Amino acid sequence: MKAAVLIAPGKFNIEERPIPEPKENEVLIKVEACGICTLEQRLFSGAMRLPLPLVPGHEASGRIEAIGSKVVEELVPGQRVALDLVERCGECYYCRIGKSNLCLNRYKDAARMLGGFSEYIVVRPNQIFSVSDSVSYEEASFAEPLACCIHSLKRLKVAMTEDLLIVGAGTMGLLHLLAGRSMGLRITVSEPNSARREMAAALGADFVIDPKATDISGFGRDITDGIGFSSCVVTSPSPSALEPAILAMAKAARINIYTAYEDVMHIPLDLNTIHRNELLITGTEGRGQEDFFQAVRLLSFGKIDVNPLISARTSFSGLGEGFRIALSGDAYRVLLMHSML
Ligand SMILES: [Zn+2]
Ligand SMILES: [Zn+2]
Repeated sequence: MKAAVLIAPGKFNIEERPIPEPKENEVLIKVEACGICTLEQRLFSGAMRLPLPLVPGHEASGRIEAIGSKVVEELVPGQRVALDLVERCGECYYCRIGKSNLCLNRYKDAARMLGGFSEYIVVRPNQIFSVSDSVSYEEASFAEPLACCIHSLKRLKVAMTEDLLIVGAGTMGLLHLLAGRSMGLRITVSEPNSARREMAAALGADFVIDPKATDISGFGRDITDGIGFSSCVVTSPSPSALEPAILAMAKAARINIYTAYEDVMHIPLDLNTIHRNELLITGTEGRGQEDFFQAVRLLSFGKIDVNPLISARTSFSGLGEGFRIALSGDAYRVLLMHSML
């Protein structure tokens, strides 16, 4: 089987490897699609460092190929699945208090992590989420990032008909938009790039604004009888994105810093704005098992369409070009399609 091995930043080797044998408590998956997410882009660019060589890829889908003899869950060969490839230990403090997304041992064993850029992969049954046959492999590869957005919206405790402000309309901003729409929210997307604003509008944003031309706070108060947005997700790592969002919030609003920053980011804020308005500012990292189930159901029920977010598909041999497109700043998701020649 083929595996794309990152041997140094910017350099993949496409290796021929034996198809792995599932142990008795493991399942062999034939991988069919895997997104090139920010994590892979940062590994490729060298902005994030993990022990190399490794096979990246954590937004993967495929089908069950073989099932170990001691797997207790009733699984069927051929079943279409989305995969959770960021391993949780199940043993540390956070795993045991139900916050496995904060697992202390996530990145400890590089051999059991990521791996979606190979034709076959062996996983534990709890890493498998069945997907309806009506969902394509491409669509199923969005289950993981979608689960992260669901986790984010749940952390904000959004309520139906609330006004949500999404700052940034990259892939994650737009996935928040799709998930938020399915939760009955009224959504304003703030994005300086006009092509991305058009995409946000096409995907059903109630309002789309250019933060360079429109005062977010004034706009938010205009559409809410002077109240302001009641919740906000910041998906843009731009240092100038956060403060205008905070100033546009209603009293008792909640703000989630969803984006990761490549460097340490200190942003000066008027803390009295937070104090006087009882604002809650939080962050989210990854997703839990329930979030993943909910993402897979949203896709399986046909509640959301992620196809407009597929910018390009690549084969193993075109992976370098796929990363170039992904890193260009103009793309949404680029997918490695394992069976594409
Ligand atoms: Zn991801
Ligand atoms: Zn853990």
